[in-house]
Amino acid sequence: MSVKTYHGSCQCGAVRFEAEIDLSEGTGKCNCTSCRKRRWWSASVKPEAFRALQGEETMVPNRMGTAMFCPGCGVTPFGRVAKAEWNDGESVSINVACLDDAPPDELIAAPVTYYDGLNDNWWAVPSETRHL
Ligand SMILES: [Zn+2]
Repeated sequence: MSVKTYHGSCQCGAVRFEAEIDLSEGTGKCNCTSCRKRRWWSASVKPEAFRALQGEETMVPNRMGTAMFCPGCGVTPFGRVAKAEWNDGESVSINVACLDDAPPDELIAAPVTYYDGLNDNWWAVPSETRHL
């Protein structure tokens, strides 16, 4: 596969975005309680490959401050990740499940990397991943 421009939205459509993503570059799933309970499945892109088209300013933080979501439908379509010690600069973590024009075969073919966030061991693969 290659880089494609995808369009995405939350469930109610109030928040919309587009992004250049190469799904063959890989996606991520994590076993921490936040990711597991939200069924978070992400693709990470650089900020310059991402455009918020509508509604980002309406998103509100959850009580833990770990995610922003749409107040209309409760869905987190994407999350902005700040530069930190553990990453190579700002990025946008896109909710793969919110991509409206990614056909199922492209999602099925996308490699998934698993992270052991539950044990704060982010760079290791959890011993069990099938439930994620
Ligand atoms: Zn919404």
